[in-house]
Amino acid sequence: MKKTFFLLLVFLVISCKSTYLDAKKSPVLLDINKETDDNAFVNLKNYSNDFVFDMKYATTDNFLNEKVYPCGECFLRVKTVKSLLEANKAFLDKGYRIKLYDCYRPIAIQKKMWKIVPNPTYVANPKKGSIHNKGGAVDITLVDSAGNELNMGTKFDFFGEEASHNYLNLSEEILANRKFLKEIMLRHNFKSFDSEWWHYNLTNSSADAVSNQKWRCED
Ligand SMILES: [Zn+2]
Repeated sequence: MKKTFFLLLVFLVISCKSTYLDAKKSPVLLDINKETDDNAFVNLKNYSNDFVFDMKYATTDNFLNEKVYPCGECFLRVKTVKSLLEANKAFLDKGYRIKLYDCYRPIAIQKKMWKIVPNPTYVANPKKGSIHNKGGAVDITLVDSAGNELNMGTKFDFFGEEASHNYLNLSEEILANRKFLKEIMLRHNFKSFDSEWWHYNLTNSSADAVSNQKWRCED
């Protein structure tokens, strides 16, 4: 009986620990290559100071006009972070860096988005789940060394054909900026998404499980 109780306690401790993603920043930068579980969820800010974070769903500046994340964190699987760090290094070498709009998105929030925009061209049906729900997708743009966003032709989450990689009726500058972003991301194990210039999926991440973890935010 004692043993059963002990095992139950261990199970509870483990399951409680794994249901929350922590927003608290590590006092020192961690090395992603020392993480042993490629599928574990981690907080990107603990592995690099070289990204710009503009997590739109933690503000009201998004197509929902509602703050749907409790805090502006970028959680991703370890393997996604590994590839993203390499891609950012390549951009940094050229004087640019990645600015993030969205990373891991709990499935409960996907359901909310689908209610507002039930159009699979722009929002994944929560029945199937999006790669964002699996920790393998990022919504990004590029900023220059002064922090200015490159002109990509539309804002993030612009739901129209102008946001598509296949829409070519844009200035040479915009097309070159999109190409710059896409080429380096594709070289670092990501795939683009035709209808959204800002969205990138880690290769082979569609087979991962949809996840609905809660976030523990700082006060
Ligand atoms: Zn996306």
